[in-house]
Amino acid sequence: MVTAKTTRVQTLIIGGGITGLATAYALKEHGQHDYLVLEAQDYLGGLCATTHRNGYYFDYSGHLLHLHSELGQTLIHKLLGSNLQSHKRRAHIYTQGLRVPYPFQTNVWALSPHLQEKIVAELTQPSPNATTPHTFAQWCIQSFGPTLYETFFQPYNEKLWGRSPAQLTCDWCGPFVPAPHRQEILTGARLQPTTPQGYNATFYYPKHGGCGALIEALAEQVSHRQTNAPVTRIDLTTKTAWVNDHPIRFEQLVSTIPLPQLVHLLDEHAKLKHMARQLEAQPVTVYHLAVDRKVEPFSWIYCPDPQQPFYRVGLTSSFAPDSVPNDHISLFYIELPGKVPPSADIEARIWSGMRQLGLVTDKDQKVFTAWQTIPCAYVIFNNQRAQVVPTLLRTLEEEHCFCAGRYGRWEYSFMEKSLTQAWELAQRLVKLV
Ligand SMILES: Cc1cc2nc3c(=O)[nH]c(=O)nc-3n(C[C@H](O)[C@H](O)[C@H](O)COP(=O)(O)OP(=O)(O)OC[C@H]3O[C@@H](n4cnc5c(N)ncnc54)[C@H](O)[C@@H]3O)c2cc1C
Repeated sequence: MVTAKTTRVQTLIIGGGITGLATAYALKEHGQHDYLVLEAQDYLGGLCATTHRNGYYFDYSGHLLHLHSELGQTLIHKLLGSNLQSHKRRAHIYTQGLRVPYPFQTNVWALSPHLQEKIVAELTQPSPNATTPHTFAQWCIQSFGPTLYETFFQPYNEKLWGRSPAQLTCDWCGPFVPAPHRQEILTGARLQPTTPQGYNATFYYPKHGGCGALIEALAEQVSHRQTNAPVTRIDLTTKTAWVNDHPIRFEQLVSTIPLPQLVHLLDEHAKLKHMARQLEAQPVTVYHLAVDRKVEPFSWIYCPDPQQPFYRVGLTSSFAPDSVPNDHISLFYIELPGKVPPSADIEARIWSGMRQLGLVTDKDQKVFTAWQTIPCAYVIFNNQRAQVVPTLLRTLEEEHCFCAGRYGRWEYSFMEKSLTQAWELAQRLVKLV
């Protein structure tokens, strides 16, 4: 529990996931040691934690490191040192019995001749005067043409987000959806591209210990932290947060918990609460499945078709060989949209989908399964988000409450960004003291 000694701190950090721990680490590196990290669970790491069970280990689905910025690379290398390995992405899309290399839009050569012709015809027509797209659907159609949209982007994204791309804005897709020039798509209709594309062509992963190895490395650097310490109420006027009924005074507050949850914890602020109620998230269920056969290695496969209840499947044992008890076992992470209660029926549907993809056979034995639910997995980019989030973040900052991380800032981001955002935030916070 929080002790009397910790009732007054300069910087109080809510959440002991990667963003909260990285903020504390960065504060310490900038010479500010008067901080405290509060984590509601009995373990650190949030969605970047790794679970060890019966000789297996697994992340919340696959948590792979995509490193792009110099700062992100420096921090990760400093934390993980020789426990970091790079991997070449081996990803494809499975649709209508075809395996199309990722990204779909530059591998039209792998589609049926009929689809190839339609796509090429659409993309060689003079483009109508470009207007600024407002929805993700408009952005896809403008970037790739209607047939690529209908064949992949629409079904895949509808499955993942649980709503039509016409109901999503397009301000998140910049770094995450490769948008090649039309000429590149046309070239890819004739020839398989030789250079890998997209933000995740190469990824990194700890050699040992899963993504949780990064959390352990960060936690070693952060001495002022408490687990089993849920923040239950916050008063920004008196700069007080409560862990159950224990008050903690702070000068600066850093929140890494989902933005609507933070606003819900605030005393007063009826207007902010009304705004936050308009924010929505898509949950994800993860099913980890091990079979007693070494399958051909791949990184992950996107599955837009309705026949498979999952939208993506990855092979943990391909990038984490010691995630399984021996070399003859394969461990998959299988991601399903929404909250899916475990049942024999859904397990049978998953198995049938995996068989269609050729990843399991009826001779294979299940040797391990585990379920995880992520209630707040993907921030929904609806119109309300674009209007509400900037106002919420600005108003909170005016009251010395700084939000960070994918859920704290209610955005689409990843682990490297948690580290760089935390670093930049710590630099701002030390200047404000
Ligand atoms: C399915 C999926 C796959 C992903 N794959 C990747 C990937 O491959 N690579 C990548 O870089 N990123 C990936 N991400 C994104 C990555 O998970 C996030 O960017 C990262 O976990 C954000 O960390 P965080 O610390 O900001 O939030 P979290 O991990 O959510 O941590 C927040 C912490 O706050 C705690 N908390 C909540 N409420 C309270 C409270 N009231 N009091 C105290 N503590 C509280 C929680 O218990 C949690 O530990 C993926 C995300 C999902 C959903």
